[in-house]
Amino acid sequence: MKKQVVVIGLGRFGRSVCKQLYDLGHEVLAIDIKEERVNEVSNYSYYAVLANASDENALKNYGVKNFDYAIVAIGDNIESSILCTLILKDMGLKEVWVKARDPHHRKILEKVGADRIIQPEKEMGVRIANQLDSGNLLDYIEISNEYSIVELVATEKNSGKSLVQLDVRAKFGCTILAIKRKGNVNISPMPDDVILKGDILVVMGQINDLKRFEKKGF
Ligand code: ADP
Repeated sequence: MKKQVVVIGLGRFGRSVCKQLYDLGHEVLAIDIKEERVNEVSNYSYYAVLANASDENALKNYGVKNFDYAIVAIGDNIESSILCTLILKDMGLKEVWVKARDPHHRKILEKVGADRIIQPEKEMGVRIANQLDSGNLLDYIEISNEYSIVELVATEKNSGKSLVQLDVRAKFGCTILAIKRKGNVNISPMPDDVILKGDILVVMGQINDLKRFEKKGF
């Protein structure tokens, strides 16, 4: 479904979000206080406007109130980022996702009602380190502090075995949600489905259980 999203702050992160949303077919209103930044995104946003996002009237003039989603990607000015988040929540936007520069910034954003707080460098750093730590881990999504979904590449050790034989749930407390093979995705694998070397297993479980599975099961 097409969404209307306002992206505020067009640094590297804001521009990347903006472009991806635009490519996915969403309607993007891009805002920055610097003209060159606004010009840079004019090709991949529905509207790109020059405005100070900590000015409530400026945001009202561009109809920001009618948007459901906002991404605040102002990292270079914490005061503006906080003020802008407050204004957007006050206007009644449903989802306001904000980029935080550091833990202090994050804490304040939590207090002013940001719906999701992102620390891109920190999150990406953790992701990369985890991928490097494990030879089999392709990607992971954190569902909560305790649970994650990971993508693991099947090795010789699990090749030729059915899900029943692997018995991952009983042995490791994890669930295989899907199996990807050569571009096809089996989204509800059956107990007698057989794993082949190179298959990508999409697995959900508690972080410690997933780690155990990763270390002992592959
Ligand atoms: P990155 O680290 O992702 O490159 P930056 O934090 O450097 O991002 O970029 C933040 C962007 O936010 C800049 O383009 C800056 O001009 C913009 N910005 C800062 N304050 C405001 C404001 N009050 N209103 C709109 N845009 C702002």
